Amino acid sequence: MPSVRCAACGAENPPGSQFCATCARRLDDQTGESVARRRATAVAAQTTSIRWVAVLAAGAATVLIVVIVVVLVAFVIH
Ligand SMILES: [Zn+2]
Repeated sequence: MPSVRCAACGAENPPGSQFCATCARRLDDQTGESVARRRATAVAAQTTSIRWVAVLAAGAATVLIVVIVVVLVAFVIH
């Protein structure tokens, strides 16, 4: 296992360390850049799911309109 480099102060820590021996920051803390990237990915995923909800809602509305039209036509014919 490679040693763990602290993102905050750059100190090398023994493999498996959870906290930096020099500055006591959590070693799984990422740099600001990768946090921003992760946030952008989360926003993109959220936007994609919102788009899917919109597509599903539009599809459901279309099906509902078709059903209503079919029922109305059936009433008119009878
Ligand atoms: Zn550190």
